[in-house]
Amino acid sequence: MQVPPFSFDKQLSEIGQELEAAVNRVIQSGNYIGGEEVKNFEQSFADSVGVSYAIGCNSGTDALVLALRALRIGKGDEVITPSFSFFATAEAISNVGAKPVFVDVDLKNYLLDLSSLKKVVTPATKAIIPVHLFGCPIDMTEIVSFAKENGLKVIEDCAQAAGALWDGKSVGTVGDIGCFSFFPTKNLGAAGDAGAVTTNDPELARRIRELAVHGMPRRYFHTELGYNSRLDAIQAAILNVKLPLLPLWLDQREKIASIYLELLDGLPGLELPFYFNKGEHKNKHGWNQFVIRVTSPSFRGREISGNQSSKELKSFDVDLSNSNARDSLQKSLLKKGVNTIIYYPIPIHLQPAYKHLGYTSDSLVNTQKLCSEVLSLPIFPELTLNEQEYVCRIIRELLENN
Ligand SMILES: *Cc1c(COP(=O)(O)O)cnc(C)c1O
Repeated sequence: MQVPPFSFDKQLSEIGQELEAAVNRVIQSGNYIGGEEVKNFEQSFADSVGVSYAIGCNSGTDALVLALRALRIGKGDEVITPSFSFFATAEAISNVGAKPVFVDVDLKNYLLDLSSLKKVVTPATKAIIPVHLFGCPIDMTEIVSFAKENGLKVIEDCAQAAGALWDGKSVGTVGDIGCFSFFPTKNLGAAGDAGAVTTNDPELARRIRELAVHGMPRRYFHTELGYNSRLDAIQAAILNVKLPLLPLWLDQREKIASIYLELLDGLPGLELPFYFNKGEHKNKHGWNQFVIRVTSPSFRGREISGNQSSKELKSFDVDLSNSNARDSLQKSLLKKGVNTIIYYPIPIHLQPAYKHLGYTSDSLVNTQKLCSEVLSLPIFPELTLNEQEYVCRIIRELLENN
């Protein structure tokens, strides 16, 4: 059996025709920039997350850049963010001229460690960008109260967490600004790049909208340097078809996660991801990824030669000596047709692009540990029970017969 990490096949057999019709409507309308599809999507997305304003843009990365610029964060400013995330979170901070200050994560839920925030705040700190990584909402109550006490802004990186809730509220509605990505493999995916910024503040909404169109409050009048970062009309049309299906897809993701949690329970050398108990209705995991930790140094599998990423890492002084168990489990799974992905093999603070910041391989211990242990199992709404049982049976065999 072959189990892909992600597949659009079944989704296309269900809504492919509707998507084609939506794209055709845009082509026939001749309205390629802005227009009804974009307006409708922005309104429906704002309604679905429960926020006053949603502004479409080119990508999740642009959403972060627009948010930072709207808050007037730039040169000389510091922004606190986890290093265990996709590179774009930090890249956006650097690209507006500010400095990312990395904090470690909690091993339990892989999210920014709240207790380390106070250690890194300086007079230059302007904001925190917490990441709802893999779809798991971070404790926004704590983040917002810390931010208020310290006079900081909060930009939520919701790229992986559309649909997730903290204390009954959607991610992206409690911080000052929320940033969403509609990259195809996110919970709500377009057929290309797309993103959105959410806020309840009318002044911020206005600024974000202007910055996304060349800092232009009215035609050919530019008050500041902005970007060309609009939500494409064709992508908006696709998102308008998909948005009503998001609750169903989230239910399916949740069901898949609960089956993994049940079938993989109690295996030696394996840590399962954090989840909310059934009684905790006010918190909802978005399950964009189901990420296990392979912690057993005893699992060796057949081959222990490092994979490509660990070879690259060696040349940058990154100690990945503990990733062998994870890497060999991944290889053994692949031989059985089970495709897994490592999010993320190299922490952001040790990327060559951030060498100048001077972090070393013992700067953020938990982040480093996770990078050598995490493995993402296939999870997407259309994954079948049969496929899931196969994945779990193979993992069980590999770990128990080791
Ligand atoms: C995907 C992602 C982004 C960037 O979104 P794009 O739409 O790909 O630009 C930012 N942060 C995180 C955590 C992401 O997963």
